[in-house]
Amino acid sequence: MRVRSSIPAQTRLAVSPVPPAGNDLTAFRRTLLGWYDQHRRDLPWRETREPYRIWLSEIMLQQTRVAAVLEHYRLFLERFPDIQTLAAASEDAVLAAWSGLGYYRRARMLHQCARQIAEQHGGCFPRNAEGLRALPGIGRYTAAAIASIAFEEPVAVVDGNVERVLQRLLGAKAIGINLAMPQTWQHAQAFLASSRPGDFNQAMMELGATVCLPRGPSCLACPVRKWCVARGEATRIAPPSRQKKKEIWCALECRDGNGDGGGKVRLVQRPKEASLMPGMWELPQSSEPPRPPFPSAHWRTFRHSITVTDYTVHVLRHMPPRNVRLPNGSPAKGKWIAIDSIPRVPITGLTRKILKAGGII
Ligand code: SF4
Repeated sequence: MRVRSSIPAQTRLAVSPVPPAGNDLTAFRRTLLGWYDQHRRDLPWRETREPYRIWLSEIMLQQTRVAAVLEHYRLFLERFPDIQTLAAASEDAVLAAWSGLGYYRRARMLHQCARQIAEQHGGCFPRNAEGLRALPGIGRYTAAAIASIAFEEPVAVVDGNVERVLQRLLGAKAIGINLAMPQTWQHAQAFLASSRPGDFNQAMMELGATVCLPRGPSCLACPVRKWCVARGEATRIAPPSRQKKKEIWCALECRDGNGDGGGKVRLVQRPKEASLMPGMWELPQSSEPPRPPFPSAHWRTFRHSITVTDYTVHVLRHMPPRNVRLPNGSPAKGKWIAIDSIPRVPITGLTRKILKAGGII
């Protein structure tokens, strides 16, 4: 099945990758599944076939690292253990539980989806990918992941990990092509094992996440090395980072409790029409330093990333209220929010990080 890289350059574009077939393909599937059974990471969503829990993990894992999801997943399930509880909750309660995970549109869609399942499907998930794709926030990948893992439907998934593994397995680079997405989905489906399709999909993703890494794939430790065209020649150089860098200043102002139920912190609400985190609450912030300069107000500096931007965040505390202001932070528009109520308020991940670091929550 192997395609050699010695194909003359002028003929490369006419060549298609050749995947394994017949007994070779059967051996590939068996080997990959055997490796997965022995080496997979223990993750809470792998201990269940409940569609609700698998769906939740898939939505949380979109553009978010596993390590960042684990604790949120546990706490979210404590608060919303099933689809009915989630469907009956307010959007603010769902956003509050999502706080810190970022990409809040996911939480809104999750909530809408739960309501639709409760109202139109009697609280039960559709049992195939086609039915799942008709729900809010569920695209081709998520539908296939839920259908294969929860219901054993033989539909392949393609995420960034699977795409990279397939490109390398098939030696696309060696023959001078970049597999287009429709072809990648077709190849993923051709590789898929019809028995244990959910485990096979997870095995392909696990291989990409732990062995066939974007930079420095561990080809010597790879269970499917024998079938891989690119082995050892996969790129070891990551593409240049496209992250932008920004500096911001935040004001952390607190009031002690005076026998009225506890302390308060000043927060402002982001505009409802903001493209990023609309309607969420955060510390007053500014893209410019305080005026006049007031160095002793500086408390700590944090690093924080949101989508494609890396922020350096200078947090100011104990600013004299009258004569030092953040130029465009508009703290006057803020509200004093009871610290006891913060778990029910949708605050941004950065604000949560700062309040935690300050021992406020
Ligand atoms: S042999 Fe290397 S490049 Fe090929 S799938 Fe395994 S880790 Fe990836």
